[in-house]
Amino acid sequence: MTVSPPEASPEASISDRLAAVHRQIAEAAAEAGRDPASVTLIAVAKTFPAEAVAEAMAAGQRHFGENRVQEGMAKYPALRETHPDLVLHLIGPLQTNKVKQAVVHFDVIHTLDRVSLAQELAREFSKSGRRLPCFIQVNTGEEPQKAGCAPQEADAFIAACRALDLPVVGLMCVPPAEQEPAPHFALLSKIAKRNGLNQLSMGMSGDFDTAVMLGATHVRVGSAIFGGRSYPPAA
Ligand SMILES: *Cc1c(COP(=O)(O)O)cnc(C)c1O
Repeated sequence: MTVSPPEASPEASISDRLAAVHRQIAEAAAEAGRDPASVTLIAVAKTFPAEAVAEAMAAGQRHFGENRVQEGMAKYPALRETHPDLVLHLIGPLQTNKVKQAVVHFDVIHTLDRVSLAQELAREFSKSGRRLPCFIQVNTGEEPQKAGCAPQEADAFIAACRALDLPVVGLMCVPPAEQEPAPHFALLSKIAKRNGLNQLSMGMSGDFDTAVMLGATHVRVGSAIFGGRSYPPAA
């Protein structure tokens, strides 16, 4: 199957684009013999205003992703009042000094990638009584500037997180922009399998169908739903 991101034409509404993404997920799932319901679409709304999120919610979308804690804190509390079933995923790097706020405002963490963060999360979970499901981010491309634990350190890091009693549910990756994503998705899946983890957070606007073919349970799609971002988000 070829990678064909849905056209984010300026005239298409968020609702139209969501429907197109859902169709593409269903097609990829069918091709892989998977149930499309086994794939959660996370709408990545970073840089877009709460109005855009509200529009997606009106179209039935409930899972949203943000890569900055501050932006999540600012945008979602009012939306949660009317939609308590909203699920907010943190998909960007988490600094230990933001853990407390992240645990209050987010529901799922996708970027657990180092022991100091694991320890801080464990502390905050026991203090607050809120235990958020965590994905461990793996730097499958071993890019020095990118977050995530190294692939060869993943088994030990997963074990360390489990020893801290963290609810580790799966693995997450962001493949290098200039490479074929498939080998990275396959590597992530292999590491997950040998560690008994069955959730995979992988696939973005340009490659989510490939990710679904290779077992993604969570795809993180931004621009194909909300349109192009006018400024690059901080990493
Ligand atoms: C922004 C972002 C996405 C969504 O990217 P698009 O290409 O706009 O779909 C997915 N994952 C992470 C970690 C991101 O920061």
